[in-house]
Amino acid sequence: MNDQIKQVTTNEWEIPMDFVPGMRVPGRFFLSKNLAETLEDGALTQLANVATLPGILKYSLGMPDIHWGYGFPIGGVGAFDAETGIISPGGVGFDINCGVRMITTPLTVSDISDMKELVEDLFNAVPTGVGSKSPIRLSQNDLSSMLEYGAKNAVEMGYGMEGDIPRCEENGAMEGAKPEHVSKKARQRGIPQCGTLGSGNHFLEVQVVDDVVDNETAKTFGVAKGQICVMIHCGSRGLGHQVCTDHLQVLESAAKKYGIDLPDRQLACAPLSSPEGEAYFGAMAASANYAWANRQIITHIVRELFVKKFHVSYEEMPLVYDVAHNVAKWEEHNVDGVRRNVCVHRKGATRAFGPGRAEVPHEFRASGQPVIIPGSMGTSSYILAGTDGAMEKTFGSTCHGSGRVKSRSSAKKSQTGEEVAKALLQQGIIVRAPNQAAIAEEAPDVYKSSSEVVQTVHDAGISRIVARMRPLGVIKG
Ligand code: 5GP
Ligand code: MN
Ligand code: MN
Repeated sequence: MNDQIKQVTTNEWEIPMDFVPGMRVPGRFFLSKNLAETLEDGALTQLANVATLPGILKYSLGMPDIHWGYGFPIGGVGAFDAETGIISPGGVGFDINCGVRMITTPLTVSDISDMKELVEDLFNAVPTGVGSKSPIRLSQNDLSSMLEYGAKNAVEMGYGMEGDIPRCEENGAMEGAKPEHVSKKARQRGIPQCGTLGSGNHFLEVQVVDDVVDNETAKTFGVAKGQICVMIHCGSRGLGHQVCTDHLQVLESAAKKYGIDLPDRQLACAPLSSPEGEAYFGAMAASANYAWANRQIITHIVRELFVKKFHVSYEEMPLVYDVAHNVAKWEEHNVDGVRRNVCVHRKGATRAFGPGRAEVPHEFRASGQPVIIPGSMGTSSYILAGTDGAMEKTFGSTCHGSGRVKSRSSAKKSQTGEEVAKALLQQGIIVRAPNQAAIAEEAPDVYKSSSEVVQTVHDAGISRIVARMRPLGVIKG
């Protein structure tokens, strides 16, 4: 660990205010001793740079899956004051509302006689990879509704059930979406890609719950040992990417216009209350809603396939929860004893609201919200619960995954996709992707250890482990 970094408590570290010029608050991050070696200098500097942004509250925060990103590090959280604060696309990411959801099924491992066939069927049913085509034909008007109503819009079109909506963060549709700030080019990219998984890190995974740590909470979440479940990870596709690109350009000059001194151009931003800041917020919210609709449509495709293949009923495959991990949102938080409305940026970080929050459905009010943390195609994923500790320390936030440690290019040099797939098969995991390079780039060893990351947030008290899932069949984009 860099010797300027001070340890606060076990797994919790502080970046002092003199680490880079202009810091307005200290940085805080969460890493176990083992994970400390994975901390890149670049990510540390990025975390400190975020602390220079106007209106930042308390700390610039880093989760244990922290790694270098565009502007903010991935695994970064920053909350900003409504009047003096800014909004930055670099604090959200290019894949606006990239997120994860999990559905359970009434099946157990023995009900699936041929996993390879199931994986193949899912691969054929869910459009996957670069250039895959949408299963639905959206008109411009349909897209406008989707940008405004998100998952609700998808359910209205027949993709899902009413009960899915409260099981999405923000009920699957953020308020404040302004489709008029989504460019024509972004819309053109969005129409043919709706209901597609995308490429790279995005996946659809058949898993089995192989350990339950907290029985009572697992029961509340509807999760039980031995159950087959499906996890879906994707975001807003080309639409969100284009929105980010378009608004970055505007915000670069806006930062100058408003006299914001940036230590890094990638932190382009504008005051939350400025027309430029509001336009980005509106377009970002619209993209987030598109992403919720996207995950909803994919969920429907998966359920229909399970109904046909295993003769289970659609209703027996409820959504446990859907979390966003690339987003900026207005939320109420206690800041130095005062309850305030602040804009929380979560970039590769997950909301982890503890007990009692009105934003969370009734059934989860006592336990804290479900938090879904993917591991990798060869290691465990987890379901956690939000805690009071997260409310106190991290503006109700935790990690979003295990976090990459190896670049795509170095991954491809060390192993071929065939070798990775073969090794996974030996562990009983079937992987299917449009090409072998996609598998090599996503080999389990390109990520930190998911168990170590999750244990770190658990020990730091910013969420708590409820259950663990093991991968059986993975579809990579
Ligand atoms: P990101 O959104 O930052 O690209 O990725 C989120 C997280 O998903 C990664 O940090 C990694 O832990 C996890 N992940 C990536 N690929 C897979 C996969 O194929 N299966 C599972 N279960 N997790 C994955
Ligand atoms: Mn993504
Ligand atoms: Mn993601």
